[in-house]
Amino acid sequence: MKYASGRHFLQIPGPTNVPDRILRAMDHAVIDHRGPAFGELGLKVLDEIKTIFKTQQNVVIYPSSGSGAWEAALSNTLSPRDKVLMVETGQFAALWVQMAKRLGLDPEVIVSDWRHGADADVIESRLSEDQTHSIKAVCIVHNETSTGCVSDIAAVRAAIDRADHPALLMVDTISSLASIDFRMDEWRVDVTIAGSQKGLMLPPGLAFNGISDKALAASKQAKLPRSYWHWGEQLASNKQGYFPYTPATTLLYGLHEAIAMLHEEGLENVFLRHKRHGNATRAAVDAWGLELVCLDPSAYSDTLTAVVMPQGTSADHFRRVTLEAFDMSLGTGLGRLADKIFRIGHLGYFNDLMLAGTLVGIEMGLARAGVAYQRGGVQAAIDYLAATH
Ligand code: PLP
Repeated sequence: MKYASGRHFLQIPGPTNVPDRILRAMDHAVIDHRGPAFGELGLKVLDEIKTIFKTQQNVVIYPSSGSGAWEAALSNTLSPRDKVLMVETGQFAALWVQMAKRLGLDPEVIVSDWRHGADADVIESRLSEDQTHSIKAVCIVHNETSTGCVSDIAAVRAAIDRADHPALLMVDTISSLASIDFRMDEWRVDVTIAGSQKGLMLPPGLAFNGISDKALAASKQAKLPRSYWHWGEQLASNKQGYFPYTPATTLLYGLHEAIAMLHEEGLENVFLRHKRHGNATRAAVDAWGLELVCLDPSAYSDTLTAVVMPQGTSADHFRRVTLEAFDMSLGTGLGRLADKIFRIGHLGYFNDLMLAGTLVGIEMGLARAGVAYQRGGVQAAIDYLAATH
């Protein structure tokens, strides 16, 4: 790689930019994870993280990527050949379905066009038909990072309630937690899946399961094999602030700092900041004359924007040109969207000028890569930012 002066713009939809404050908090000698200082740290972060999930129930923390938390959610609560209702809103939902199959579950998949959130009415009618309650869980990706579409979890909860169905509700909040409003207890989510590298502003390496009491009860009956992911062992050790195996100690120092920062800003302000940046980004895309992947305005994601390239134009070529010329990384198209779209991450540690710089880089990249677009996207976004608080 050639030398690049100034800060790299990491505008993929996670991992996100890690604030200096968090980097400094993690710049800490590694301590004995069985000693008293670790116990204090563990108790502190295990308690504090509940405020971000908006839960009073248990949250466990794994040293793993987010996919580990997917596996933990399924393997702790379900038994071989259990039916699970999953909505394929995009590539991440599809990967979760693949995992469920590999674990020996029987996923029933509600397919979508990858341009909308989950349809709560379809979920309700499927659950209403399931008179024998053979469906044991409903699995939803809150913010589909491959498409920039959000699913309305409160509506899914209401659909399950209307169908009067006892299935567990499992929600992947990997790219929404601490950026888009999420209320584990109010929406009676049974298992919340999360990761460190997006709204929590940390490097990759921590994964989370928020566990409802109902899910915990289910875990006592569940028959899928589990060992590393076993909630029972986590929760037993967590009582004193410890982990059943070596935790990611330095990331936990960072987590404590991240939670403090989120509360200093105020979680509701964090959500509003993301909404404003989502609106500004969409104003830019509209002015460029480009199309969003997400077709439903009520489902627009405030953490990332996925943009369709004009027919016959390579998104990866544009991203490569932008990286080489302006030192900015944009998200690639995933799965069936590969090379057809690019994704702009606007989540985590982020402000107006960082967004302005990002959009300037994209507009210059579009010009340099020879993409057919209209000028004026940056102007539209900064007009919006200047006029709103
Ligand atoms: N689910 C969603 C919504 C994601 O965005 C990602 C990663 O970006 C994952 C799951 C997988 O997480 P990881 O790559 O940390 O294993």
